[in-house]
Amino acid sequence: MTKKAHIIGAGISGLSAAVRLANEGYEVHVHEATQQAGGRCRSYYDAATDLVIDNGNHLMLSGNNHARSYARSIGSEDGLVGPERAQFHFVDLRDDRRWLLDLGNGRIPTWLFDDKRRVPDTKVGDYLALAPLIWSSTSSLVGDTIPCKGALYNGLVQPLLLAALNVDPPKGSAGLAGAIVRETLLAGGQACRPLIARDGLSAVLVDPAIKLLHEKGATVNFGHELRQVLMAGENISTLEFGDDAVTLSPSDAVVLAVPPRAASSILLGLKTPTKFRAIVNAHFRYDPPDNMPPMMGVIGGLVEWLFAFDRRLSVTISDADRLVDVPREQLARDIWRDICKAAVIGNDVAEGPLPRWQIVRERRATFEATPEQNAMRPKTVTEWKNLFLAGDWTDTGLPATIEGSVRSGDWAADHVLKMQ
Ligand SMILES: Cc1cc2nc3c(=O)[nH]c(=O)nc-3n(C[C@H](O)[C@H](O)[C@H](O)COP(=O)(O)OP(=O)(O)OC[C@H]3O[C@@H](n4cnc5c(N)ncnc54)[C@H](O)[C@@H]3O)c2cc1C
Repeated sequence: MTKKAHIIGAGISGLSAAVRLANEGYEVHVHEATQQAGGRCRSYYDAATDLVIDNGNHLMLSGNNHARSYARSIGSEDGLVGPERAQFHFVDLRDDRRWLLDLGNGRIPTWLFDDKRRVPDTKVGDYLALAPLIWSSTSSLVGDTIPCKGALYNGLVQPLLLAALNVDPPKGSAGLAGAIVRETLLAGGQACRPLIARDGLSAVLVDPAIKLLHEKGATVNFGHELRQVLMAGENISTLEFGDDAVTLSPSDAVVLAVPPRAASSILLGLKTPTKFRAIVNAHFRYDPPDNMPPMMGVIGGLVEWLFAFDRRLSVTISDADRLVDVPREQLARDIWRDICKAAVIGNDVAEGPLPRWQIVRERRATFEATPEQNAMRPKTVTEWKNLFLAGDWTDTGLPATIEGSVRSGDWAADHVLKMQ
């Protein structure tokens, strides 16, 4: 008899579990509350810019093995585009200093011993001071573990950890920061090549998964929000979607891959993270200057990362709760000024009429990657034998990232496959 799995939530974690199980011959049913798959990682047509944009610029690294193998499994790994070497362009807007951090493409971090490839004004010893992060506990603070000042912190550690943790790094969990350092910087340039879904998040990470699922005979039900589950003994016995309900046999598996608030309203008593941080993205319809790198770290301004896409310049600002209530026009103007400086676009353009723009403020972009919130992340396995959890907020050992989401989906699928 064909085994069945119901996947609740068509974000990246749910899709990765669904794809794994469909490829293993399961009869898969995906249930998504909204009309679109992708969750916090999706593209859509934006009338303000008359472009298809992503809800947020998503950066992955070549060491994100689960995410890359997910993309490979849906046939879209080539859509994750990046340079041959792990090179990162930086600019400090305060003095217009520019540099290239060149981590190379090897396994051993030899770049540490070449002062032309390191962060300017840093010595090898500065990097050794990061070592305690590697084995630190998730209950320790970054600020109590490594020096959070100086040229290395300002030029590399702060931008890297702010992007990964989405909290002010000293207040973040040292264990989560350590996982990032172990899987990227310590694994050499080969693990640090920046990868971007150049044709859009949905085209690369979402639509091919839906296509594969349909080809495998899976159903993907949009506008199908799970409201409640009923239990019978050690199993989930019914999924209630409002107008309809699905009765399960004990061998039918359920992967709950919804955000923490939805999960705790469905599974009363489930402990989940309760605090979240915003990310702001801004998109300007403007042709990138010819010599501009595809991606730049920006220091000393409001903008943190600047991306050059076809006909569009886009920025990311993390830990952005402070910007959620700033008037949109003012924010757009301030961001545009930073962009013009970083991309060396003239002052007249910076102060002239704004190009067509859009600002996307995701208020609950990620859970707060602090020791306190990390301690509230549940494991994949639940007290019900046929119910497993997935999502970037479950206990993946990583902060809220695509890699963590896919990993959680893979782990949930592993448990489903092991069900008796
Ligand atoms: C602006 C922004 C920028 C980011 N930048 C990066 C980056 O650069 N690099 C990186 O690696 N990560 C980044 N992330 C994080 C990354 O997007 C997330 O980790 C990932 O998308 C989370 O996927 P998920 O499946 O765990 O959750 P979600 O995407 O939240 O998916 C959950 C799904 O469940 C659905 N759902 C909710 N309730 C129900 C219900 N009751 N029934 C059915 N369905 C339901 C939701 O509609 C949603 O589709 C960023 C996130 C944001 C918001």
